[in-house]
Amino acid sequence: MLIELKQAAFVYQAPEGEVEALRDISFSMAEGEFCSIVGPSGCGKSTLLSAIAGLEPLFGGSIAVDGEPVCGPTPKIGFMPQRDQLFEWRTIWDNVTLGLTLHRQRTEEQFAQVRRLLDRYGLADFAQMRPSQLSGGMRQRCALIRTLATNPKILLLDEPFSALDYQTRLSVSSDIWQIIRQEHKTALLVTHDISEAISMSDRVLVLSHRPAVVQADFHMDGLWQMDPLARRDTEAFHTFFNAIWKELNTHA
Ligand code: ADP
Ligand code: MG
Repeated sequence: MLIELKQAAFVYQAPEGEVEALRDISFSMAEGEFCSIVGPSGCGKSTLLSAIAGLEPLFGGSIAVDGEPVCGPTPKIGFMPQRDQLFEWRTIWDNVTLGLTLHRQRTEEQFAQVRRLLDRYGLADFAQMRPSQLSGGMRQRCALIRTLATNPKILLLDEPFSALDYQTRLSVSSDIWQIIRQEHKTALLVTHDISEAISMSDRVLVLSHRPAVVQADFHMDGLWQMDPLARRDTEAFHTFFNAIWKELNTHA
């Protein structure tokens, strides 16, 4: 297994008292899998991604990536946050190569990889422009390319499309799905949108109210080879939607 969580637990120490965010989270993901996480607002989804990324040390249980316990940030994991966090005063090129600078990977080979990604995903002609000159969808692709530039095995995506309007969201999620597939990445996507989870992933985990536990684990049988837009037209899509909706409204 590429990612393995065993009874992961996390508690925030806030001035107002303790907040138990995660309780007993166990699941594993195989290499190449695309998994989504849905759950009520505030249940601990972002906390879970931070813990996997090695940004929050656990209070109990364990997380292993590639067979090694997570005890801090690792280049094996790329994180794509809610807002694209592109720097407006930097060009697209300087934005997408930022991770290479931070990880001291400024080699000709890495630059060639970034050029290939920009070219392949329609941004090559925009390399010298500023983020404000790009559409919302292009910005999101740019943010993904920045995350891919350091060549992580695993992508963690925390509600990456929530700033986009509905139409853009549909086409961007389809683009991003394609890129993740073509680049053979393992992905874990947090979203509050059930349709988005079903349309993009091989598997959907439903988290309970805080403190979060894994309440259900759905495998998108019959859908996972289809692209996100095509999935939305299927009978299976609606069946999964109803099952997940019901699960989210059942209090474990
Ligand atoms: P989600 O992403 O599912 O909306 P989060 O993981 O962001 O939820 O937060 C889980 C819970 O932990 C929430 O109740 C939130 O208020 C609380 N929380 C998040 N960050 C902190 C923090 N730094 N200090 C104290 N409590 C926090
Ligand atoms: Mg969150």
